[in-house]
Amino acid sequence: MNALFDLSGKVAIVTGANAGIGQAIAVALAGAGASVALVGRTKATESLAQITAMGRKALCVAADLSTIEPVERIVAETVMGLGRLDILVNNAGIIRRDDSVDFTEADWDAVMDTNLKSLFFLSQAAAKFMLSAVRTETESGANSGKGKIINIASMLSFQGGVRVPSYTASKSGVSGLTKAMANEWSARGINVNAIAPGYIQTNNTKALQADLVRNQQIVARIPAGRWGNAEDIGGAAVFLASRASDYVAGHILAVDGGWLAS
Ligand code: NAP
Repeated sequence: MNALFDLSGKVAIVTGANAGIGQAIAVALAGAGASVALVGRTKATESLAQITAMGRKALCVAADLSTIEPVERIVAETVMGLGRLDILVNNAGIIRRDDSVDFTEADWDAVMDTNLKSLFFLSQAAAKFMLSAVRTETESGANSGKGKIINIASMLSFQGGVRVPSYTASKSGVSGLTKAMANEWSARGINVNAIAPGYIQTNNTKALQADLVRNQQIVARIPAGRWGNAEDIGGAAVFLASRASDYVAGHILAVDGGWLAS
């Protein structure tokens, strides 16, 4: 492991870690040496087994992020179980589809609460802990090394999308919040960045994958010529969690097979 990307001794929280992108990120961080708290409303049994089979530590934290009620407990259980906290990956997210003229307040609130409100308040809880953490000289420069926060954004942090107004609002909000938090915390040693996945084959995109017309249109526009898979996101997460990205702040890193370029 190149020392720049080595996460040995680091502890990460990954939300929505039982499946899809969250699972792939948790496994990638563990592969780089981190211990991982797997947070979600569905127990991440498979992710836990994969990580422990690699000889890394992991634990499951039961939490429903449709409200901010569990955010402080998530940090507390992680620190109690794994000893510290260095990395937070805000991955949990949902999508609701309907025409904007018919879109309900319930679908608006559900998506905004999970994708944006809980992301902010869990980041706040993590940052409070990270800012108070004492790091050794070898772990940090004058104002670096306290922590890394990685938000999962979307192509709809840049574009409008169709029939997903609350998802677009939430993911555009994630982009703005990433920059806002980076502005406040960069000088205090916390890097806040985001990954914007392109079209990735997971539960979240099952409806799109099954729509043959939309599926063809999507693949035709991706320069890489294929959908991404969850593992395609892992390397970007390791980069943004590691010392290799110490001078990267408030950045939205597209991992999209070139979608935004086309
Ligand atoms: P996914 O397989 O549906 O994963 C979503 C994860 O979020 C699941 O672990 C899910 O847990 C969790 N989650 C949802 N609501 C939650 C809640 N209230 N409390 C706790 N956990 C909750 O889809 P995915 O594609 O991997 O999505 C992961 C992230 O990537 C999301 O933020 C999504 O918006 C984003 N993203 C995906 C794509 C893509 O093409 N797939 C593109 C751009 C961005 P359950 O299993 O319990 O529901």
